[in-house]
Amino acid sequence: MRVRNKPWASDFLKSHPDIAIQDPAAHKGKWKELFGNDHPIHIEVGSGKGRFMAGMAKQNPDTNYIAIELFQSVIIDVLQKVLDEELPNLKILNVNAEDLRDYFDYGEIDRVYLNFSDPWPKNRHEKRRLTFKTFLSIYEDILIKGGEVHFKTDNQGLFEYSLQSFSAYGMLLKFVSLDLHNSSYEGNVMTEYEEKFSKLGQRIYRSEAKFQTE
Ligand code: SAM
Repeated sequence: MRVRNKPWASDFLKSHPDIAIQDPAAHKGKWKELFGNDHPIHIEVGSGKGRFMAGMAKQNPDTNYIAIELFQSVIIDVLQKVLDEELPNLKILNVNAEDLRDYFDYGEIDRVYLNFSDPWPKNRHEKRRLTFKTFLSIYEDILIKGGEVHFKTDNQGLFEYSLQSFSAYGMLLKFVSLDLHNSSYEGNVMTEYEEKFSKLGQRIYRSEAKFQTE
């Protein structure tokens, strides 16, 4: 994804440390304390501008959400949404998903969402795909036992790759849709990319994969 540099993004994030968490490692094992309740915590890895996270936070006030995004110049849009829509159950982390074990304890997270993850189509970039086995291992560690990864994409190649990756890892596929918008699935919250690609007539794929409990 091409990202335009916004020099003021860092200051904007730092000026709202209650939402854009500045020292996430300090909260490892204590995220529920930070939210001030015992509600489950769901994260989106690669949240982009956060339409999905903001929509989910509004729809489900009894769930806590954390938007995780590599680029400051993108994640500032999530911060703006939290400020505009007053969403106490949505926090922001400007970090690399590779390091999630540094920020979350074993079993601290209840669900992982991956939406329209970068496909990295070249074989030599396989390790960068957010559904590669090393990322699955990170999600397994920070998730509750039997935790789930919910995944949406318009990219058929990445979807097929990811289903194989989930399966090879020993995960159980609970739900697969090859055409989400023409399925009976209810309560879908669209992401920015989903809106863009579905307007172009692209099919949207969706899966729910569950880690084994033993
Ligand atoms: N989920 C959003 C949507 O559906 O509109 C954004 C999709 S965008 C194609 C993928 C996002 O994942 C980008 O914003 C990118 O910066 C982020 N990303 C990719 N690899 C990441 C990583 N290792 N850690 C955190 N974010 C990552």
